Amino acid sequence: MTRDACGCDSHAPKGLLPVDEARRRIVDLVTPVTTRERVSIHEALGRILAEEVVSTIDVPPFPNSAMDGYAVRGEEVSGAGPHTLRVVGRSFAGAPFDGELGPGEAVRIMTGAPVPAGSDTVVMQERTRREGETVVIEGSHASGENVRHPGEDMSRGETVLEPGCELLPAHLGLLATIGLPEVWVWRRPRVAFFSTGDELKGVGEPLGPGEIHDSNRYTLFGMLRRLGVELVDMGVIPDERDAVRRAFAEAAACADVVITSGGVSVGEADFVKETLDELGEVEFWKVAVKPGKPLAVGRIGDAFFFGLPGNPVSVMATFYQFTRPALRQMMGAAPEPEILLQARSLDPIRHHPGRLEFQRGVLSRNEGGELVVRSTGLQGSHVLTSMARANCFIVIPAESGGIAAGEKVQVQPFAGLV
Ligand code: AMP
Ligand code: MG
Repeated sequence: MTRDACGCDSHAPKGLLPVDEARRRIVDLVTPVTTRERVSIHEALGRILAEEVVSTIDVPPFPNSAMDGYAVRGEEVSGAGPHTLRVVGRSFAGAPFDGELGPGEAVRIMTGAPVPAGSDTVVMQERTRREGETVVIEGSHASGENVRHPGEDMSRGETVLEPGCELLPAHLGLLATIGLPEVWVWRRPRVAFFSTGDELKGVGEPLGPGEIHDSNRYTLFGMLRRLGVELVDMGVIPDERDAVRRAFAEAAACADVVITSGGVSVGEADFVKETLDELGEVEFWKVAVKPGKPLAVGRIGDAFFFGLPGNPVSVMATFYQFTRPALRQMMGAAPEPEILLQARSLDPIRHHPGRLEFQRGVLSRNEGGELVVRSTGLQGSHVLTSMARANCFIVIPAESGGIAAGEKVQVQPFAGLV
């Protein structure tokens, strides 16, 4: 296929790579880490599982009661009640009844306690009346009710977690349930990141004329930290060819992934794309996305490279849409399903056909229970409050000519992204 200077095929609109195509190329480019680490259950939180976890026990391990009540023989309480049975003992969680239930007998039982031999049914306390040494069971009962069976949750030999699983609180509990103190997880990729720009000052520094604070390194820190990668913060690099070159080489030598912000378009102080060209390989660098048209993706040596645009909203939008999935792939995580919801837009949304746009919105339910989305207001790629006030992206297809108030739109909730 013939490719123009931006790495796009010549049929792409305006010489920009369509978003789907950019995503596909990233999937093809990136390779997952290959080394594993053994970690304790606590340390496993947020890590990606690098083995199949097979249960070595049945869960529950023994038949037990789902209710406080009386363990009985099912066939003795199936007819119309009341049924009077003799109470011959008790089975508590951790203190089972060690005899066997005979005809006409019942055992007082608590939730989680072993169901005694000879019984197969538990009648909940609310359907019973205690009268000294006997219990009166009201009504008729299905044989087997309120009994939890061995292996009902997990059975011995069953695969309970697959490699690629992101270990969340439920998974930690599951590992504990089956008595596994440690698991194999994939090594965390190391991500070096820096900002470029002569106008950038540190957070504590006063601003001179034409200067702004470097905020991208903080949003990037937040997004990367949440993802659970190892971070190497390389600070701010000035807009000088040699400084950018040195930073690239240093970052690529110590990290699996290099992420930069700024200096990636075609201005006279933009050295990122040309340095990538010189020291590595550019896979593509112009995507039909808004915000974030200049987005350079490629490799430097063994490291994958993401040159994000400089504008604060562009950094975040391109990170979530392109870099985050790539990092998850590197982390060995199974692909996430993309959650897009339909909502009614409460505001008109302007859009010119050409680029797929991620506007920022506030998703909620109206009084009728319908999902509705409001714009956060000004949508310039420099307006960071549009991200800070939002809880979703409003996804506007490239070909859309705009959206009227009251029309349905697709939204991508931040929950799950952040
Ligand atoms: P650039 O892509 O370098 O041309 O930057 C585009 C816009 O983003 C300019 O207005 C920059 O001042 C701004 N910008 C670049 N880097 C940062 C940063 N680290 N923090 C905040 N704004 C930035
Ligand atoms: Mg710049």
